[in-house]
Amino acid sequence: MSLNTPLPSPVEMSREHSAEALTGAFFPGADSQNGVRLREQMSAMLDHWFQWRDHRFSAPASENHERLTSQHDLRLVERLNALQEALTEETPTFTPRYLAHMKADLSLPAILGWFAAMLHNPNTTSPEASRVGSRIEREAIRHLGEMMGFGAQVEGHFTSGGTIANFEAVWRARYRMDRWLALALCISQQTGASLDFFDAAHMGWPRFRDLSDRYDINEEAIDAASALASNPCDIIRRLSIASGQPYRGPVLLVPGNRHYSWEKAADVFGLGREAVWSVELDEGGRMDIDKFIQTIQRAHRERRPILAAVAVAGTTETGALDPIDAIFDHLDALTETRGWSIWRHVDAAYGGFFRTLVHRPGDEGIGARARSSLEAIKRADSITIDPHKLSYVPYACGAFLTADAQRYAVSSFDAPYLDRPELGPGKWASTLEGSRSAAGAAATWLTAETLGFDENGLGSLLKGALDATAFLRALILRVAPAARFVPADSNILCFSIAREGDALSESNRLTEAVFRHFQSSPGFSVSKTTFAAGWEALRTEHVKGYKGHLDADEMLVIRCVVMNPYWCQPSVRDRVGGLFADELRAAVEGALNDGSGSPQC
Ligand SMILES: *Cc1c(COP(=O)(O)O)cnc(C)c1O
Repeated sequence: MSLNTPLPSPVEMSREHSAEALTGAFFPGADSQNGVRLREQMSAMLDHWFQWRDHRFSAPASENHERLTSQHDLRLVERLNALQEALTEETPTFTPRYLAHMKADLSLPAILGWFAAMLHNPNTTSPEASRVGSRIEREAIRHLGEMMGFGAQVEGHFTSGGTIANFEAVWRARYRMDRWLALALCISQQTGASLDFFDAAHMGWPRFRDLSDRYDINEEAIDAASALASNPCDIIRRLSIASGQPYRGPVLLVPGNRHYSWEKAADVFGLGREAVWSVELDEGGRMDIDKFIQTIQRAHRERRPILAAVAVAGTTETGALDPIDAIFDHLDALTETRGWSIWRHVDAAYGGFFRTLVHRPGDEGIGARARSSLEAIKRADSITIDPHKLSYVPYACGAFLTADAQRYAVSSFDAPYLDRPELGPGKWASTLEGSRSAAGAAATWLTAETLGFDENGLGSLLKGALDATAFLRALILRVAPAARFVPADSNILCFSIAREGDALSESNRLTEAVFRHFQSSPGFSVSKTTFAAGWEALRTEHVKGYKGHLDADEMLVIRCVVMNPYWCQPSVRDRVGGLFADELRAAVEGALNDGSGSPQC
């Protein structure tokens, strides 16, 4: 893509490289090996920016310009130094020693794309506010859509992150359901027939159009029966009367492994905590498909419409992939047999970029189950994906995608001062956020145009991350045979420490001690997490693995997110891997020798 400007066509680039070669070309380097290149490009970028400015609106220099500048300059330099000095205390997340969370070094295309756009400071609310930024955003969304399998019809926009992208999905699902319920309410009041909430709330657009034609119900009448366009309390009362039973509102179906943003969404959208229906997980920490089916049945029985069914691709805790193919197969079957259209959202904030691996040959990288789960994401209504996680782009950069424009539809709002139809549609009316920077979109765009969101670009790099994960897992087992791993679909390693026959409570104590060791030492950063409610099957299976017994209803694990690109370099692996092994050995020995533990593990 060319951004519609007469730029020279992109330089040809050979597209088959190892993760190691790509890391060498597209990242600053664990030892800042690309520092000179980056400095040159940054300086050339500033030259370009100043040249651009010089040709526009130049103003004559004021008289005391020089004196003021030198004074202010001193102050600026001094305070800037103070700021930079303060930032040296920041957690160094670029290094392969950082394994704690979903953050690693930034890529060169991301840094350069971000800066290039930031200097022009485009606001993607509308093409009027940003002629170029809006175009960059559109192309970057197309790149992401193509990677996710959505095709040319994709719609969407960049958000500050996965949380807001998830909210965008709820906003749209709620809008759609509200239209459908409102139409059903109009018909029921016209005909006197009893209203079935569940049927009505999932009627689908084709039936919606048929019915509104048949009963001659216009937009205005629907607005008057809408809980969003009119008074929600009145509408709930009218729905209850029309159906002869109290309307208790919709539910949100989410897996037990969900991110906490879904609870926030329920809160913000006024659904109430009770409306978050959590589906239990299987022994791999993935949504249990049988429990999912039972939860839909329960919603039907209790006449609670399903606002959205959410599946997670790459859970925040373990990087697991829900069985998205099986989940969507079931929803397809419900459409077929019952005519129900239930909104399907995939929260792929973390794992969405693993779709770049789907087309790698054979069994490379991910297993068959993970592959068909990733493959199925393209059947979603909407997707959340975070370039600021596995695409190595700076914060704050998430994205929300829908399969087409119809699914993108949402309550519309007017802003007369932004209405310039000749410039094309603005995003301001259909985004939860107002002013939005194009910097993240530009970083994503430049990454797609250089590294590439395909099996040979980012896919190769992520394959490298999976290999590094396998390497680290083997290393951990070698130095700590008491490490007990939770099943992993991707590049997050979770393990507890337990001897054969230990009780879970004892394992939790040992694991906590190992974690504390890491926390108190500057060598490596790891994180920890707890598997509590919803994770019963995984806990049972895990403890069975060391013939232990379950005497606690929470399980603590140490968590390592292996996404740092430098782990795919053998030199880094040798150096940093050895240091990690030493650290872990010391931590585990300390834990086992402390208190009641016997030291032979
Ligand atoms: C990180 C994450 C989110 C939230 O994204 P933010 O960018 O932190 O707002 C949501 N869902 C999943 C699965 C995530 O991993």
